[in-house]
Amino acid sequence: MGFGLLYIIVTVYNHSIHFCFCFQLRHHSLFLSRIFHNMDQLHFFFFPMMAQGHMIPTLDMAKLFASRGVKVTIITTPLNEPIFCKAIQRNKHLGIEIDIRLIKFPAVENDLPEDCERLDLASDDKLPNFFRAAAMMKESLEQLIEECRPNCLVSDMFLPWTTHSAAKFNIPRIVFHGTSYFAQCVGASIRLNKPFKNVSSDSETFVVPNLPHQIKLTRTQLSPNEQSDEELGMSKMIKAVRESDSKSYGAVFNSFNELEPDYVEHYTKVFGIKSWAIGPLSLCNRDIEDKVERGNKSSIDKHECLKWLDSKKPSSIVYVCFGSVIYFTAAQMQELAMGLEASGQDFIWVFRTNNEDWMPEGFEERTRGKGLIIRGWAPQVLILDHESVGAFVTHCGWNSILEGVSAGVPFVTWPVFAEQFFNEKTVTDVMRTGAGVGSMQWRRSGSEGVKSEAIAKAIKRVMVSEEADGFRSRAKAYKEMARQAIEEGGSSYTGLTTLLQDISSYSSTAH
Ligand code: UDP
Repeated sequence: MGFGLLYIIVTVYNHSIHFCFCFQLRHHSLFLSRIFHNMDQLHFFFFPMMAQGHMIPTLDMAKLFASRGVKVTIITTPLNEPIFCKAIQRNKHLGIEIDIRLIKFPAVENDLPEDCERLDLASDDKLPNFFRAAAMMKESLEQLIEECRPNCLVSDMFLPWTTHSAAKFNIPRIVFHGTSYFAQCVGASIRLNKPFKNVSSDSETFVVPNLPHQIKLTRTQLSPNEQSDEELGMSKMIKAVRESDSKSYGAVFNSFNELEPDYVEHYTKVFGIKSWAIGPLSLCNRDIEDKVERGNKSSIDKHECLKWLDSKKPSSIVYVCFGSVIYFTAAQMQELAMGLEASGQDFIWVFRTNNEDWMPEGFEERTRGKGLIIRGWAPQVLILDHESVGAFVTHCGWNSILEGVSAGVPFVTWPVFAEQFFNEKTVTDVMRTGAGVGSMQWRRSGSEGVKSEAIAKAIKRVMVSEEADGFRSRAKAYKEMARQAIEEGGSSYTGLTTLLQDISSYSSTAH
């Protein structure tokens, strides 16, 4: 599918624009670490894949590093600049600098619509074109590295060619997968052992070998690439990602030790590369504005949203949101509406659909007062952090999981694609802070097959059954651990200290 071009430097795209913003951290103790062990100020480049689920945590990561006295430059494309700018501008008055450098994204040259600078805007058949266009940013990136000479490049797993760019200038590249240690370990075991070959049908479960927990999956829950020995659409890209992972200086994780201690250890054994757990990254957003302004502009006024939440009892509502990418079929949307209604619980439901013919007759009238529908983009972290939220119906995107963990909210899990089926198992089988709707089919788009009865049952199980208190108390315990992890002396705080020390000593020996 033309992925070979990932490795070819094609044309010079040198239209980067320079913006410099001051950035400030309001958490006073952060100033203490401003001068880190008296060393020269480190300079990090952050280069996320152009997708909400990757840019949002990268911005949080950049803020976190800046709060520890690191000079930070974010690399992105012109149409994605607004996602970063507002947050940076809002904080600029306290004097920590974050740069944004823009690199032209060759969309049209790769047969993509002119404004297609985000992965979720590319249709399935154009994904190879998108990755090819991203790879064509290589030369501009290298010019920026040459100009700025950063100490380190933290770049997305989907930009595997950046390992080569970093090596050219003898700077370490740290890979950011945006997922958990657990998912990395499950994926590695499946690739190595191919346990799905030992079952006789797609729906028979197999155990993923050699993991600290007994994790069961079915073939249908794996991606086509994971199940096949043949070269499929994304397999060259995935191979390039694996190769570049192993050549990277290390991997940084939006996770924390206490969340998955067994898998931090297992990962280190299996992958043999350095890693640092520095999350949950979303916890760097401490005030309302920061929580509201993440990714797209919110489709609901924050006061209206908070007023609605304030009118509800603690732990009484279900928040339903499936991230930034997933689309269900109309039939599935209808089942979801019916399931929500049948659960009898109050809810906030976020969706993005072009038409609403699937909406059951009279649904909005019947659920008025009980339900709040947000059409478009929700201020997710603001909502999850509200005490009235009692459960999060999620597609198990890793950012969403960590945001729910940080808020102490139990989950109703409904994985759809990517590594979401693995993330579900972290919730249901490792943390034991949620119940699944019984999603069985990995599907990149047009997901369906989950019935309203199963949805209502899983919601009731987490909200009101005799198991609910158990889910809730375990979720609260993880929230405490998450918050402690990021405080001074906590595991993630120390993880970042170690990362900075590692890069500092690399830089001092490299020059
Ligand atoms: N998000 C949000 N409002 C929405 C939908 C998503 O703020 O209406 C944010 C969410 O808080 C998370 C990110 O978008 O930080 C989605 O990332 P995730 O890994 O959960 O899923 P993806 O979108 O990558 O599938």
